[in-house]
Amino acid sequence: MVESGGGSLLERCEACDSRIPAGADWCGLCLTRVTRAPQQPAHPNAVGLPPPVAREASRTREGALTFGIKGRLVITIAVVLVGAIGMSLFLIPFFTAHSHVALAYSAVFLVPYSLVAWLVLRDAWKRAWRPLEVLEEQPWKPPSPGGSA
Ligand SMILES: [Zn+2]
Repeated sequence: MVESGGGSLLERCEACDSRIPAGADWCGLCLTRVTRAPQQPAHPNAVGLPPPVAREASRTREGALTFGIKGRLVITIAVVLVGAIGMSLFLIPFFTAHSHVALAYSAVFLVPYSLVAWLVLRDAWKRAWRPLEVLEEQPWKPPSPGGSA
């Protein structure tokens, strides 16, 4: 789609500083082997790997894999909605027709639903807490004075 602007930098020979055509392994002038940093082609489908766990202050970020607070709320609401809709599908016939079969079905529905909902919510919120763990890191405390003679 959009090329990351500027194109690739022209490589230069370390020995004679002449330009080296892209992709060449050897300098055309002095035949010095081109040393280039291992290229990491940006995969078009790459969403972005999770950054290495933030040891430094990345407090404003939530990480590539974590959902924002909106995402988490949307997921939570979606899960709750699915549960509400699913339950009402069974409970409405129960209340209207007093069908105990519908009530039984709702119970059957509830078990796998609650399992999935638990997994989804746990996953969504568990990741979210990680940055907070960084945030709540205990500050260094000076050793309490005393005992030194
Ligand atoms: Zn050269």
